[in-house]
Amino acid sequence: MIKKDFVIVGAGLTGTTIARILTDHEQEVIIVDRKDHLAGNAYDYRHESGAMIHKYGPHYFRCGSEKIWNFLNRFTEFYNWSANLLSQVNDEYFNWPVNQDYIEKIAGKNWEAFKDEPSNFEEACLTKMPWELYELFIKGYTEKQWGVKATDLDKELAVRITINKSNVNSLTPNHKWNALPRNGYTEMVKNMIDDIPIKLEFDYLQHKENIVANKMLIFTGPIDEFFEYKYGRLKYRGQKRYIEHLENTDQYQPSIQVNYPDAKEPRIRTIEWKHLMLPDEKDKVKGTLLTHETPFTPEHSNQYEYPFPDKINKHLYEQYKADAESLDNILICGRLGEYRYYDMDQAIGRAMKLASEILEKFKIPSEQYA
Ligand SMILES: Cc1cc2nc3c(=O)[nH]c(=O)nc-3n(C[C@H](O)[C@H](O)[C@H](O)COP(=O)(O)OP(=O)(O)OC[C@H]3O[C@@H](n4cnc5c(N)ncnc54)[C@H](O)[C@@H]3O)c2cc1C
Repeated sequence: MIKKDFVIVGAGLTGTTIARILTDHEQEVIIVDRKDHLAGNAYDYRHESGAMIHKYGPHYFRCGSEKIWNFLNRFTEFYNWSANLLSQVNDEYFNWPVNQDYIEKIAGKNWEAFKDEPSNFEEACLTKMPWELYELFIKGYTEKQWGVKATDLDKELAVRITINKSNVNSLTPNHKWNALPRNGYTEMVKNMIDDIPIKLEFDYLQHKENIVANKMLIFTGPIDEFFEYKYGRLKYRGQKRYIEHLENTDQYQPSIQVNYPDAKEPRIRTIEWKHLMLPDEKDKVKGTLLTHETPFTPEHSNQYEYPFPDKINKHLYEQYKADAESLDNILICGRLGEYRYYDMDQAIGRAMKLASEILEKFKIPSEQYA
C-alpha cells in the first residue's frame, strides 16, 4: 500500500508541472502513469535512424508568457525553431496558414465575407476567407480530420484558423518564443521530476485500493473513464501513424509538415522529422524518417487525441464536470480531464494556476505561480 500526501495520476505536462510545484513547496508527492514512458502525449525519442521523433504527432512549442518560459528553462535549454508548414494542393506546395497576399491573389481585394452570425464551423471560416480558399485548403482537411461534414462542427473550432499578414508564413508568428527543447520533451520532463518518486506502467484506476492520497488526488486521465463511462463515452479523434524510414533519401519534402487537404487522399499529413533538428544532429541521420498520419475514431482511451467539437459532447462533458466538482479533494484536470485541446504552453500555464490553488487550499505558504 502506497500513501502520499499528493497522488498525481499522469506524467504528462499537466501532472509533472503540478508535481514540480508541490515538491518545490516541500509537499510529499508520487506520480503514476500507465504508459511505459514520461511526458504523456509530448513523448519523444531517438529513432534508430538517428532522428528525434514525437510518438504522438509533431509537437511545436510556442509561448508568450515569461513565467512559463522561465519555469521551463529550469529544466532544459531551448533552441529557436519556428514551424513553417505547407499544404499540398493540385501537386503544388502552399504555405499554411495562407497569408493576406495569397487571398488577394485568388479572390482579389473585394471578396465578400459571410456577414450573418455563423452557426457552424464552415460559416465561421467564411467570415474570414473567400469560399475558393476555404474549399481548397480547409473543407476537405477538416472533414477528413473529424469524419463529419464541416457544417456539423462547432463554430468555435474556427478560432484556431488564422490568416497571416502579408509576407508572413510561420504557424505562430505572434508568440515571443518559438523553440524546441535541446534534448527533447521527454528529457525536459525527466529533469523536471528528477527527485520525485514515479511509478510507470501503473494504471491508477486498476489499482486504486493500493494507493492513497492523504491530501489530494490529482487525476489527469480521461474524465469519462474515471467515472466508468456512466453517462456514456466522450468522442475523440486520433491519428493512425505509419513510420517510414527512407534509408537512401536525404530529403523527402521541403518542410517539417505537409498537409493534404484533398478529400480523396486518406492521409491528412506527412511529417519529416529531420526538419526539427539542429544542423549538426541532422547530418548524423541515416536517410530520412517520415510519419504519415491518417485520422480515425479511437475506441481505447490511450489513443484519445482531439476532443470532438460538437454540442453533444460538450453537453456530455458538462455532466461529468458537475460530478467532478462535487468530489472533495479530487482534482480532474489536463487535456483529458477537462476534455479540452490545450497547446503545451497553455497546459503548463493551467497546471501552474491549479498548483497555486492547491497550495492555497491547504494553506501552504507559496510563491504565486499563476
Ligand atoms: C496530435 C496532437 C498534436 C499536438 N501538437 C501540439 C503542438 O504542436 N504544440 C503544442 O503546444 N501542443 C500540441 N499538442 C497538445 C499537447 O499534446 C498537450 O498540451 C499536452 O499533452 C497536455 O498534457 P497533459 O498532461 O494534460 O495530457 P497528457 O500528455 O495526455 O498526459 C496524461 C497522462 O495521464 C496518463 N493516464 C491516463 N489515465 C491514467 C490512469 N488511469 N492511470 C495512470 N496514468 C494515466 C496517460 O498515460 C498520460 O501520460 C498536441 C496534441 C495532440 C493530440
